[in-house]
Amino acid sequence: MGIRGQLTLLVPGIVAVALALATVAEVRRERRETLEDFRVRNEKVLQAIGAMVAVQIAQNDMGGLDTLVAHLSEGMKQRDLVELAVLDDQGRVLAHSQPERFNSIASDPLSVTAGHSEGPTSKRDGAMYFQSAPAVSGIRWGTVTARYSMDRLDAQFVRTRNRLALASLMIFLVVGALLFIGLDRLVVRPVRTLQQAVRRMGEGHLATRVPPLRGSELGELTDVINRMASALQHERENLERAVAERTRELQDANARLERLAVTDGLTGVFNHRRFQEQLHAELLRSERHKRPMGVLMIDVDFFKKVNDAMGHPAGDELLRRLAQVLSTDLRQTDLIARYGGEEFAVLLPENTKSEAMQVAERMRIAVEDRINAGTPWPLKVTVSIGVATFPEDGNTAEQVLTAADQAMYVAKRSGRNRVIGARGVVAT
Ligand code: GH3
Ligand code: MG
Ligand code: MG
Repeated sequence: MGIRGQLTLLVPGIVAVALALATVAEVRRERRETLEDFRVRNEKVLQAIGAMVAVQIAQNDMGGLDTLVAHLSEGMKQRDLVELAVLDDQGRVLAHSQPERFNSIASDPLSVTAGHSEGPTSKRDGAMYFQSAPAVSGIRWGTVTARYSMDRLDAQFVRTRNRLALASLMIFLVVGALLFIGLDRLVVRPVRTLQQAVRRMGEGHLATRVPPLRGSELGELTDVINRMASALQHERENLERAVAERTRELQDANARLERLAVTDGLTGVFNHRRFQEQLHAELLRSERHKRPMGVLMIDVDFFKKVNDAMGHPAGDELLRRLAQVLSTDLRQTDLIARYGGEEFAVLLPENTKSEAMQVAERMRIAVEDRINAGTPWPLKVTVSIGVATFPEDGNTAEQVLTAADQAMYVAKRSGRNRVIGARGVVAT
């Protein structure tokens, strides 16, 4: 059950119980006081009657006594009197306002008790109220007893009770409504606002802030929650920044690793693995677009002699220089790789045989001119290049590669430092 439901049950419940208890207490007090007034007033009346009838009993004036009782009872009917009787000191009935009850009154236990009592007595008897007073004139001559109807007083009690209940109901409605409105504005609505804001925060919207709430505790709670959300938001931003930075670093590291995995460690050009991958991919693309593709196989002439004469480190240096020179004039889409040992391979997408032959020839000349300028190698450094193209010299990567390799060997056999195309095409 929500806080509104609980307060709706609890607060009016407490008000209702308090009002009900107050109403019951008030009804009881009213009833007690009214009965007491009734008793005191009637007691005085009976004592006055007692004084009068004592004189007549003393004078033995029974006729006068009857007339007096009849007269008095007639006058007291408006004041709830039902019957009025006079008994002598032996408990015998001397006069009675209701002749039919003349004999039964004497044996009535209340009358017997009253006859023996020194002072006035009173007792409620169902819907009736019994009261007596001694008839005294110097000595006690007898007892005056009266029976009253409680109907009028009971009806009055009911009216009082209903009036108080109605007043309580009105108070309950007004107080309940005021409490409900007050609690709704001071507690329920702010708590709901707080709840919605915190729920949004919980869903990850950390930029949400609780609007300022009145009430010291709620206001303080709002501040604490807002400060907490700010701290969380700050932390999350830091975390996101750190994650983005780490991701970038990781991507860079991955790119470096990837690059390393496909790069030849000595020369910095692509390695054999990458060449094979690229050759297959480019061949598929050329096949799809029905475009030619050139492959060059480059082998350094008499490389062994460089190693033998200057040592392997010098041979390595030569390989590095060769990689640089061979890469210089390539297009973005071309690819050069160290195929193995002192052999390089080049992919030339979109190139026909004659275009590939021209590229190869430029490379050969570049090596001849630029490698030998400056460094005193033990011999003139040159390269032999075999050229093959797809689809002219083969339909698969292996076939094209073999054709280029074979052309390269033809170049070797033909005297080195030259470019030979597959099927014996010679560079011009
Ligand atoms: P040609 O190709 O003209 O027939 O003669 P060549 O001397 O170049 O041929 P060969 O295949 O006999 O020798 C290639 C040499 O390349 C053998 C090997 O020691 C050397 N070589 C292979 N890889 C490397 C390397 O990474 N560094 C160095 N310094 N030498 C290498
Ligand atoms: Mg070789
Ligand atoms: Mg060689």
